Amino acid sequence: MDADEFRRCGKEMVDFVADYLENIRDRRVFPSVQPGYLRQLIPDQAPEDGERWEDVFKDIERVIMPGVTHWHSPQFHAYYPTANSYPAIVADILSDSIGCIGFSWASSPACTELEVVVMDWLGKMLDLPEEFLSGSGGYGGGVIQSTASEATLVALLSARVREINNFKKAKPDIKVENGVIMSKFVAYCSEQSHSSVERAGLIASIKMRALPTDEDCSLRGQTLQDAIDEDRANGLIPIFVCATLGTTNSCAFDNVLEVGAVCNKEGIWMHIDAAYAGSAFICPEFRPLLDGVQYAESFNFNPHKWLNVNFDCSAMWVKNSYLLSEAFNVDPLYLKHENQGKMPDYRHWHIPLGRRFRSLKLWFVLRMYGQKGLQECIRKDVRLAHEFEELVKSDDRFEIFGKVVMGLVCFRLKKSNEINEKLLKEINTDGRIHMVPAKVKDIYFLRLAICASRSNSGDVTFAWKVIQEVTEKL
Ligand SMILES: *Cc1c(COP(=O)(O)O)cnc(C)c1O
Repeated sequence: MDADEFRRCGKEMVDFVADYLENIRDRRVFPSVQPGYLRQLIPDQAPEDGERWEDVFKDIERVIMPGVTHWHSPQFHAYYPTANSYPAIVADILSDSIGCIGFSWASSPACTELEVVVMDWLGKMLDLPEEFLSGSGGYGGGVIQSTASEATLVALLSARVREINNFKKAKPDIKVENGVIMSKFVAYCSEQSHSSVERAGLIASIKMRALPTDEDCSLRGQTLQDAIDEDRANGLIPIFVCATLGTTNSCAFDNVLEVGAVCNKEGIWMHIDAAYAGSAFICPEFRPLLDGVQYAESFNFNPHKWLNVNFDCSAMWVKNSYLLSEAFNVDPLYLKHENQGKMPDYRHWHIPLGRRFRSLKLWFVLRMYGQKGLQECIRKDVRLAHEFEELVKSDDRFEIFGKVVMGLVCFRLKKSNEINEKLLKEINTDGRIHMVPAKVKDIYFLRLAICASRSNSGDVTFAWKVIQEVTEKL
């Protein structure tokens, strides 16, 4: 493909994308293919000679689309949303074209510098405490990670190094291996935390205790305090707590004011995982849910879930970036440069070396929507969730599980778990809408998340109509 061909094919692809997204309602949201469907559709070896663009292009509909789950269909209500917007797609074209690997300032200054500034912009939109912002003169700052899972892992690994160093400083006369010290460490999350938190514990080799929550699925300060006291009495060293704002199961909120106060008193690192709900904190009416963030050492949410920035863009802030660089700093000669120390070298802030120019898509989105435009998107989704909640409440065969705070509605038939499982299975077999279930404290329920940016009241009514029809048939 030469430049002329690229101009032609690129435009054709942009048209295809716009048609795909604008007509996505016409496609069945969940594919009906069987495992292995694709191998039968293409040769079992790469072509010897290059093929024509026309032939590649044709295969998008023939090979790919039949096996796509259309996450941006307004009939998609599973998991949580994943963001998608034209400004972000356009920015990613540019990012792919510049194609730099921004591991240090010198490896492509704009890549680092834009990230530093737009992460401050975003931090200010959330009204984060000054200490998290890099423009504040301290050691704070933001970094774009690929995923919330990595942010949690980075925070835990940094806490681990900090505590190993603290231990050695406190007992300089004792010679003891890091592994032995680590075997005494314990970290906490709640039983409602995302599976990635448990996984971070496995990867970091730190005991991760999942603590019980109250009747609102919220982790409370006293529960944490009791666990810490018990573990200290048994000779363990508590080092880290991952609190969640907006759990994946039911969008519940840990009490970060209480949990954070305990962490500060005990000298424990609090990380906040607000992967989904964090985007809503740009709206003043939701910002109180973030109170307590002043106690956190690190905070993370995914603009790639609910803030119109395509995957991958997970925004993480820390109060003391030295704690990250200390944990991950290795400095071979080929990565050194003359301006070290004046700007962050982001390779010290995360696990891979290479990193894409991801701040471009955040910058484009923040500029083209503006803060007001983004707030409008959040509010629209919350409004739609409440519309659906009202429909559920108007049918006394159903009940709401938990509270509808953001764009997620958890509900169930007032019947056994088995019947609700059957209902969900039938809804997904029917195929007009797509949802996933969750189970909390042994109660099985269905989750309807408002996902697509194109969702409107009609889509919510449609989903409810499908659910009622399937219920009738049960
Ligand atoms: C979605 C989600 C995650 C995982 O996000 P990734 O960016 O895919 O790692 C973590 N925590 C919560 C609460 C989530 O909802």
